[in-house]
Amino acid sequence: MVETIRKSTRSEREQWVMDARYNLFNLKSEQVFIDLLTDSGTGAMSDHQWSEMMLGDESYAGASSYYKMKDAIEELLGFPYYLPTHQGRAAENVLFSALMKAGDVVPGNTHFDTTKGHIEFRKAKAVDCTIDEAFDTQLIHPFKGNLDLNKLEKVLKAHPKENIPCIIVTVTCNSSGGQPVSMQNLKEVKALAEHYDIPVVFDSARFAENAYFIKNREEAYKDHSIKEIVKEMFTYADAMTMSAKKDGIVNMGGFIAMRSEQWFRDASVYNIMFEGFVTYGGMSGRDMNALAVGLRESTTYEYLDSRIRQVAYLGEKLTEYGIPVQKPYGGHAIFVDAKRFLPNLPKEQYVAQKLAVELYLEAGVRGVEIGTLLADRDPDTRKNRYPDLELLRLAIPRRVYTNNHMDVVAAALKNVHDRRDKITRGLKITREAPIMRHFTVELENA
Ligand SMILES: *Cc1c(COP(=O)(O)O)cnc(C)c1O
Repeated sequence: MVETIRKSTRSEREQWVMDARYNLFNLKSEQVFIDLLTDSGTGAMSDHQWSEMMLGDESYAGASSYYKMKDAIEELLGFPYYLPTHQGRAAENVLFSALMKAGDVVPGNTHFDTTKGHIEFRKAKAVDCTIDEAFDTQLIHPFKGNLDLNKLEKVLKAHPKENIPCIIVTVTCNSSGGQPVSMQNLKEVKALAEHYDIPVVFDSARFAENAYFIKNREEAYKDHSIKEIVKEMFTYADAMTMSAKKDGIVNMGGFIAMRSEQWFRDASVYNIMFEGFVTYGGMSGRDMNALAVGLRESTTYEYLDSRIRQVAYLGEKLTEYGIPVQKPYGGHAIFVDAKRFLPNLPKEQYVAQKLAVELYLEAGVRGVEIGTLLADRDPDTRKNRYPDLELLRLAIPRRVYTNNHMDVVAAALKNVHDRRDKITRGLKITREAPIMRHFTVELENA
């Protein structure tokens, strides 16, 4: 599918971003020239996916589309049970309803915002056990998504087993920069978890991109196919949640997959309550068909190689221009280090959000803040949490933009970089929601 995009003038953008209260989520899509807000649900489906849409079985119960997805999940990921959901956070809502209670502790590598939101909503606590190397954007480490086994074991030791419903491993780790977790680390986490008798759940939105990095960076896997690597990765998980809007290459969809029949039964109750009957769970039959194909396509080397190279292409351009970005480059996005980009702004003034606004004003390019706004307030003290990393994420949709678009993005950010000394005021909040505020927050110039 091809869409037209529209250029705008700086003065138009100044008005629009003010009307949007400096929250880029409030812009209309036609006010955006190149949209790197997210790679979620923004991919282009293939000819094979579109043709499967025509074959969707919309039966309420027992649709063939449910079984097409079941076959793909069993074959590629190795899980015997699964529940469709309308997207990733719905999978979290359903599974966590069955697993978690107030007072629980859920260790993992930097939990994604909706994951953390669903944990904290249940008055449980997410504990970040990512390796320290992940928090230095300039340090080269092949697997910055890895969990620190010492940090993890400390958490497992400090709490009774009844209060640790699971460990959540996010592959790739979105919040720390689209950084992969090594097979070795997945194996070690599972071994430690087994020792303490705690289940492991993979938050799997970008599992295929993670497999690509394992193939390219972990010597023992260089001759393995992506599908072999994916299959082995999931042997170290008891269950998975999936936002299919990423590596499923569909516009909407998700699922939970698991090994335990008991978990399947427990979660089915919540799926029926929140999502839909067990065999559709919020998805249309045609969408389940497209997802089954998407999972097969995203686990091919050729596709992953072209995608991840495009992300690296943007990263290289920005590096050439002297712009500080997270290294090594992530799988789905380039993360600009906003604290290094705008060192003169105080952390209280939402530095990465300011940078996102400046990039939009410069060329109509929309990125997203992964920083203080996203980190939200501490649920107990209600104080702002200031994360180690203050990032502007430029997420690349799958199979949508060309490298010419990447050139425009890089040039625009270079222009902002060239005038960075003139950016002396950040932003302040005028209105915010009690949880997951970044989606709806309103700001003004500080
Ligand atoms: C996108 C995402 C989710 C949430 O999925 P939605 O489909 O947006 O609801 C959860 N975890 C990770 C790692 C994600 O990237």
